[in-house]
Amino acid sequence: MKVFKFGGASVNSVDRIKNMASIMQRFSGEKIIVIISAMGKTTNALEKVVAAFYAGKKEEALDLFTQVKQQHLTTAKYLLVSGYLACEAQLKDFFTEVEWLLHDKPVREYDYYYDQVVCTGELLSTAIVSAYLNEEGITNKWVDVRDIFRTDNDFRDAEIDWKQTTAHVQDSIAPLFNTYNIVLTQGFIGSTDENESTTLGREGSDYSAAVFANILDAESQTIWKDVESVMNADPKQFPDAVPMPELNYNEVIEMAYYGAQVIHPKTIKPLQNKSIPLYVKCFLDPALPGTVIHNKPVHNLPPVIVLKEKQVMIEMNSRDFSFVGEQHIGHLYSLFEKLHIRPNLTQNGAISFLCVIDEWPEKIEKLALEASAFLDVQVTKGLSLLTIRHYTKEVFEKLTAGKKVLLLQRSEETVQALL
Ligand code: ASP
Ligand code: MG
Repeated sequence: MKVFKFGGASVNSVDRIKNMASIMQRFSGEKIIVIISAMGKTTNALEKVVAAFYAGKKEEALDLFTQVKQQHLTTAKYLLVSGYLACEAQLKDFFTEVEWLLHDKPVREYDYYYDQVVCTGELLSTAIVSAYLNEEGITNKWVDVRDIFRTDNDFRDAEIDWKQTTAHVQDSIAPLFNTYNIVLTQGFIGSTDENESTTLGREGSDYSAAVFANILDAESQTIWKDVESVMNADPKQFPDAVPMPELNYNEVIEMAYYGAQVIHPKTIKPLQNKSIPLYVKCFLDPALPGTVIHNKPVHNLPPVIVLKEKQVMIEMNSRDFSFVGEQHIGHLYSLFEKLHIRPNLTQNGAISFLCVIDEWPEKIEKLALEASAFLDVQVTKGLSLLTIRHYTKEVFEKLTAGKKVLLLQRSEETVQALL
């Protein structure tokens, strides 16, 4: 069995959905579980609905939601003939759930409402794509993954309950393959024991697909993207980026850790644990080789470059020349944990501690305020953090030319410079 994941861009229009169907046609006769994201920018649009609702702007929330509804109904109308009415009824049930909620006043925490509303994007996209594939003779079974993926109730960042989820996948998903070649469901969402919807964190569909792959012992997972393969740098920042046809899990984990937006960082572990290869393929041209990610060593990689903009350096110095020791550091790390801050770089000196974090004004303000109780705090904004794995002197010099390097950290494999 194979696992396919189609991201939002691969299903963001009538033409793209037809294209996705043509990809599925190439694999006819194979057993595939297909995980799909919300169409295009739907998740962002639903985030705005929640924000308006929570700010007490009910009419605005309903208006914004109407736009999401219209978009999906229009897409369904263009794609479907015999299956339209059934699909429309299914979409309307999802709409109604959201609209009921929007008519209430918020009494619970923001993240709870976020998940109840935002999960709809995946439900709508999969309902439409499933109906279209069925109409095209690509017979598939649509599943509400909220009946399968059990999570805790840490809304917006829910953790999978592996024991219950494994049981559900084995009892409810595996047997479907006796009747169907294709089972089609959502990424990114799940539900709690109390049947409240949850989400697994933005871009979480890659991870959902990997959870299925792990539990079903899939032969492979394929992520269909709009890029020809994984590149050694973001081509928007570095036009001479080159494709990397082969990588191992370790390299991808490292790339994701340093901020490369290739694959959701949680995706690798479930695959690595069962040695399931991960293919990254281009949905615009499925004949291209793409990238394969596996367990074996890969040699002669080009320099892998990650440039994170909008970085903030926070320097903390002791006031009285006392050492910044375990106690201070321990305290700072508990602040990071409390504020959900993950430093991109840290450096510890005798009487100072320095960290580089993403520009997130409220968090930085809170951190600075709390830390200033025991250290002097200085904040510098507008920096960028350059990471190069497998660096060479030439590449490093080229990428830092004309820039002021404020901080440098270097290991045998990786160099990081704060610019
Ligand atoms: N639709 C969600 C998002 O845009 C999940 C995903 O695409 O992986 O973040
Ligand atoms: Mg997405």
